[in-house]
Amino acid sequence: MKLLLVTAASKEMMAIRKSRVIGFQQCTMPYLAALTPPGWDIEHVDEVVENIDYTKYYDLVSITFHTPSAKHAYDIATKFRKNGITVVMGGPHVTLMPEEAEKYADVIFVGESEITWPQFIHDFERKQYKSKYVCTIPPELNGIPMSRKDLFHRKDHSNGIMFATRGCPNKCEFCAISIMYKNKLRKRPVEEAAKEYAFFKGKIIIFWDDNISADAEYAKELFRAITPYKKWWSSQASINAGKDDEFLKLASKSGCKQLFLGIESISQSSLNSANKSFNKVEDYYEIIKKIHSYGISVQAGVVFGFDEDGKDIFKKTLDFLEKSGVQNATFNILTPYPGTPLFKRLEAERRILTYDWSKYNARTDVVFTPRNMTCEELIQGFNWANKRFYSLKSITKRLSKSAAGLYWTLPLNLMYHHYLKSNKY
Ligand code: SF4
Repeated sequence: MKLLLVTAASKEMMAIRKSRVIGFQQCTMPYLAALTPPGWDIEHVDEVVENIDYTKYYDLVSITFHTPSAKHAYDIATKFRKNGITVVMGGPHVTLMPEEAEKYADVIFVGESEITWPQFIHDFERKQYKSKYVCTIPPELNGIPMSRKDLFHRKDHSNGIMFATRGCPNKCEFCAISIMYKNKLRKRPVEEAAKEYAFFKGKIIIFWDDNISADAEYAKELFRAITPYKKWWSSQASINAGKDDEFLKLASKSGCKQLFLGIESISQSSLNSANKSFNKVEDYYEIIKKIHSYGISVQAGVVFGFDEDGKDIFKKTLDFLEKSGVQNATFNILTPYPGTPLFKRLEAERRILTYDWSKYNARTDVVFTPRNMTCEELIQGFNWANKRFYSLKSITKRLSKSAAGLYWTLPLNLMYHHYLKSNKY
């Protein structure tokens, strides 16, 4: 039987991803392939680097996608279904909007697939499958197979994408992760995660974890286990991990070169209103300094547009990032993904401006009415922040604060500088 796995990305999202210079490839489909029983002939198309060939025959097509690529994914599904091919869909948007997605697919998957995918394949082989497979209890991650490495097609800066944990126990108002994974943190057994880490031939590994520090003791055990392999790695972590010397020491020793920290805002009232009061702005400066002291660079995740954000938030944020010497930053426009508490609140307040999911990209559009600025001011502030952060003056200021990772953060900053000089984002 022939199975096509599609990691869908609309043209607009591909343009936005390109603007990030570094964009991590997704690992969902290579893991899903590994959960498929032997006997299936599997292809994977990652639309960021390949086109779908609609003239080929498949018994089954499975599509995963995020909210901004939803319409595009539905178009893919429609084309295959017109050719009589069974189409199944899953992933973040389907989990958040199942009633919408089921109009475009023969089968949908709500939630995680470790249990439901093998069940469906068993049913499909017997031509007795259901139209909806729902994961009611987030699965434990013991014994899951390693991803199919041959199905990663992008030759980008990283040679390995994997995960050790999934989910996050926190409940930030804007976060889709907490809804999709029901606030349940799960961990792969350390030896299994370390085995997959060692299996990658390349030097650089990205842990696609939502928050690798969510269980600090687990993380420390993992870092001890991967140290002998002498690779370099990066992951997302809570900023509070930067208070833990042992965590940082073991992370650094095991090859951590950068932590992506969801600082979100330098306004404590914005954090409080987003149910992220566990981030303490007053601690940010010292935490970043401490992380740098272990030779680990910092990528800050920043969101603009919270209700408490005034028009001065952009300048204040950039002043802080320059003072603290943050090496890299990802700026986002606050975006209420469907299904999140933020979306529900803004909808109740009649502040949702559009249900065109392609605009839910956090980079080029504002999809709700901000409280203390106009939509145009929010977009302009976002664009200004990007340009200032990657201006030569800011790069010099920031990178002179710490030598952590200078050999690669400097070239990367310069690449962003040149990109932003000639492009919109
Ligand atoms: S800490 Fe991060 S991953 Fe966890 S709920 Fe908040 S935004 Fe989401």
